[in-house]
Amino acid sequence: MQHIANWKIDKYKLIISLIILLISSEGFAQKTGTMIEKWKDGKKAAVSLTFDDGSINQFTKALPIMNRLSIPATFFIITGQIPGSQFQGKFIGRPIDQIVAETATVPTNKDNFFERASAIGFLGYEGTLDYHTRAGGIYDEQGDEEAQEAYSIIDEGYKKVREGAFKTKQPGDRRSGVTWDQIKTYVKQGHEFASHTVTHPRLAVLDDANMLYELEKSKEEILKQLGSRFTFSAEGPYGTENERVMEKMYTIYPALRNRMPEPFLEELNRSNKMNPGESKKEYVQWQRGATTKTPLPMMKAWVDTVASHKNNWLVLVFHGVDGIGYEALPHELLDEYFQYIKSKESTIWIGTFADVTKYMRERMASTIESENVSDKIKIILKHTLNQSLYNYSLTLRTYVPSDWTSVKMTQGDTVVKCTIKKEGSDSYVQYEAAPNSGTIELQKQ
Ligand SMILES: [Zn+2]
Repeated sequence: MQHIANWKIDKYKLIISLIILLISSEGFAQKTGTMIEKWKDGKKAAVSLTFDDGSINQFTKALPIMNRLSIPATFFIITGQIPGSQFQGKFIGRPIDQIVAETATVPTNKDNFFERASAIGFLGYEGTLDYHTRAGGIYDEQGDEEAQEAYSIIDEGYKKVREGAFKTKQPGDRRSGVTWDQIKTYVKQGHEFASHTVTHPRLAVLDDANMLYELEKSKEEILKQLGSRFTFSAEGPYGTENERVMEKMYTIYPALRNRMPEPFLEELNRSNKMNPGESKKEYVQWQRGATTKTPLPMMKAWVDTVASHKNNWLVLVFHGVDGIGYEALPHELLDEYFQYIKSKESTIWIGTFADVTKYMRERMASTIESENVSDKIKIILKHTLNQSLYNYSLTLRTYVPSDWTSVKMTQGDTVVKCTIKKEGSDSYVQYEAAPNSGTIELQKQ
């Protein structure tokens, strides 16, 4: 009974203070309540810098620039190419001699295409992988209806194999590049590493067993080397959006740069011409790929564009650096570009692909309950997602009475003194809070 009586008094006090508030603000109601900021720290946009294929100059040339500027990046790495990796590319299936022999009498068709396209790169010859890549490119872009051309490329490749046209592959011609020890250092510097498969195949033309090997073993390798934090994001090679690949891939990786299917997100891929300001959705992911033909002013304009909207996430895609890798950009250009991005950091959140994805998904799946008790506001922040994957802090904004001059925020062991910010005549505090981690208390100081 005592408790209930106190509660009534508190409620009474609250009503009185609300009336005082209304009077003191000359009849205008003060904003109340708590919201989750659209982006971390209440910024207006997000930018993620992503690098594909793990070519060496990304680490020796571009990464030091980003470290100098304290910019984190996401690197999609081909795990089988890294020295010391347990899992290398291989063919899973029948003995390859059987497959090769069969090609002499049975032309490639929809029933044997995936098996043949999976095996052709692993026959032990120089140059056969190119037939996989070319057939895969045509098949992935045009779909199963127009697959005849892809079948004839595979037929041509196997015909040459049967004729002995290829040289036997010499062992030890693996590309040298970044090592796992170096990657562990970069992880400590705040960068994200993520899967780009074991060998960078055309996933759309692999049969299920070989596709799963490329996806699962790459994940297993990263898990073993770097831990579960880095098995969140992935990118299927060549930006594939093949339905069969996307379906399989999403059972293994929670976030794909290839495609993000959430209804709240407008996804504009690299080739999409739509202006990211046109979408009415809660969030827009705008992917832009900088190639050797992209002028720097245009690259800078992408950043200005997202900064001028409220819901845009710019995902930049880079490949080669200083002559090594696809569409290699000079590091001097990257330096100037990264400095430009950094200069916008007061309005733009520069976050890894995983962090921005987690922030958006957690925010969209969260609920807030709050209770005002005299000089205290109690808030419960919860989401319904898997808590072992989604544990990224969210930025909350809580409106407080205008007579509050300073606020102490407590959640578990975290205690932070928050300064009051003003939005017209409204007062609010902005702070980081962990979802599903106990009551948040804001205490008037
Ligand atoms: Zn790639």
